[in-house]
Amino acid sequence: RFVSFEGIDGAGKTTHIYAAADFLRQQGAEVILTREPGGTPLGEKLRELLLQDAMTPETEALLMYAARQEHLKQVILPALTAGQWVLTDRFNDASFAYQGGGRGLATAQLTWLDAWIVAGHQPACTFLFDLPTSLAAERIERSDRAARDRFELEQSTFHERVRQAYRTRAQENPARFVTIDASADPTEVGATILGAIKAHWQK
Ligand code: C5P
Ligand code: MG
Repeated sequence: RFVSFEGIDGAGKTTHIYAAADFLRQQGAEVILTREPGGTPLGEKLRELLLQDAMTPETEALLMYAARQEHLKQVILPALTAGQWVLTDRFNDASFAYQGGGRGLATAQLTWLDAWIVAGHQPACTFLFDLPTSLAAERIERSDRAARDRFELEQSTFHERVRQAYRTRAQENPARFVTIDASADPTEVGATILGAIKAHWQK
């Protein structure tokens, strides 16, 4: 019961992951809500470096996978073994989208890191929040969170490449991905997610 939420910044995945966790908890499920980069004490330190310091794309990918390794071994796998739900705000697909599409690293190199670090522990279901980059940028503008991180400050062409890489990833993994129209109003998006979770697990 491993579910990831993916999409470009400003897509609204963080809002909806909280709503999905609340829904499952009301049903009596034990839910771990976590995020990447982050999710462990070391992972959160790596997150601070990743969001603030300039670095090469290769370093960025290696630090993302370092954080992911800790996250998987210390949080995700133990929770899944204990029968809990794990909802994560970003996971492995974000590396293919951001370090691959956004920064231009070769898919072959990411696939190699994926094989080594993730080692087949893919989510059972991945929600891709898809929307035009212009709309996502407007939402970030309007949000009351003051500081913009290094990624949010990138140009629109960067976000466009990230979006396309996510869409490609979804097309290549149709059994796992559920693509959501994140430009729709939040009530509708929320209903789509709960519907998909029910369809997937509560047959
Ligand atoms: O809170 P949020 O998920 O937006 O913060 C994580 C940031 O790290 C995002 O801006 C995203 O662009 C970036 N990121 C990344 N590569 C990953 C995971 C996250 O560039 N693999
Ligand atoms: Mg962000």
